[in-house]
Amino acid sequence: MLRLHEYTYHRPSTLAEAVAFLHAHEDAVPIAGGTDLMPNMKHRLFTPRHLVALKGIADLHGIGVADAEGRPADGEGGGAELVLGAAVTLSEAARDPRVLRWIPALAQAAGQVAGPQIRNQGTLGGNLCLDTRCTYYNQSEFWRNALGYCLKKDGTVCHVTRTGKKCVAAHSADAATALIALGARVDLVSAEGTRRLPVEAFYIADGQWNTVRRRDELVARIRVPLPGPGARMSYQKVRQRNSIDFPLLSIAAVADLDAGDVVRSLTLVVSALGSRPRTVTGLDKLAPGQRLAEIVEAVAQQAYKQCHPLENIIVDPEWRRAMVPVYVRRALLQMISAPALAA
Ligand SMILES: Cc1cc2nc3c(=O)[nH]c(=O)nc-3n(C[C@H](O)[C@H](O)[C@H](O)COP(=O)(O)OP(=O)(O)OC[C@H]3O[C@@H](n4cnc5c(N)ncnc54)[C@H](O)[C@@H]3O)c2cc1C
Ligand code: SF4
Repeated sequence: MLRLHEYTYHRPSTLAEAVAFLHAHEDAVPIAGGTDLMPNMKHRLFTPRHLVALKGIADLHGIGVADAEGRPADGEGGGAELVLGAAVTLSEAARDPRVLRWIPALAQAAGQVAGPQIRNQGTLGGNLCLDTRCTYYNQSEFWRNALGYCLKKDGTVCHVTRTGKKCVAAHSADAATALIALGARVDLVSAEGTRRLPVEAFYIADGQWNTVRRRDELVARIRVPLPGPGARMSYQKVRQRNSIDFPLLSIAAVADLDAGDVVRSLTLVVSALGSRPRTVTGLDKLAPGQRLAEIVEAVAQQAYKQCHPLENIIVDPEWRRAMVPVYVRRALLQMISAPALAA
């Protein structure tokens, strides 16, 4: 049996209290649903002395629409956003009527995380901050010790790249991949104030700590711009067991279509390959003005050329790469056959 180390559990009731505690204690770590952190603590990947529980903070809950000035709104008018609290659970996000109506790719992604029990407990904020994953890292202390540990935790060498330079553990968060394709932004709150940045800029290519979040900062809210009536979107995921597993490959696609099928813009994000999600480049030249159905193969090949999985996950990287165009095609075909978003 894997046991937890001793720690103190704190239950702040306000965001200000939580960030003040994190600021004052270097060995404090936030916990939301605990579905990632608890197994990692049992594996001794993290041994914080203090856990700061986020679920009791009312400010981190709720889903609402805000206008361009941040005031509560009804979704009409330009610049409106769907604002989701970091403690919103994956189940809540997957079944919320506004998410289903305006940003169904997020509902698809959140609804495919793990299994129902974990989605009831796990949160969007925890998903954004999910630790990177690797065959040589998500193991017990005993297992990792036998191998001599690795660069990400307690060792000096990466067993994937066989150098001591960089960790390439995989970004594996489903909802985050969809949020990038949707152009979402994140509010980061600390004792020093709030900063807002695109979810895409939240991630960096460093498997040891793959976000720009400082350890004393909290993800407070996620802001997704409401798409126009021409929007089509899809989220696709490859995993070993559809009932529970992390992604081996994840793909989020969002298009803005004119006259039913002519592309104004197309965004494609691929993840679970390297340490940060990859936005496929070159689509701004390839897609606008074309019928979506006529560029499916070109977009699939563009993604294939840019994706190079590593041996950071147990499944063969060449097979995962071969699946990239297959699932890009599925995403685009689903978008072509999908009805327009409800106004
Ligand atoms: C069997 C199993 C299968 C899983 N499958 C998937 C999967 O298919 N796809 C997937 O994406 N995930 C999967 N997960 C991982 C996890 O359940 C989800 O990513 C979930 O969304 C994590 O949210 P949480 O609230 O439980 O995070 P926690 O475990 O509470 O926290 C995760 C990390 O985020 C930090 N954190 C949490 N909230 C905040 C915040 N608001 N601000 C700053 N830092 C914060 C914590 O300190 C911790 O480092 C799986 C987990 C298990 C055990
Ligand atoms: S990619 Fe390398 S350094 Fe990172 S967790 Fe895996 S083995 Fe360790």
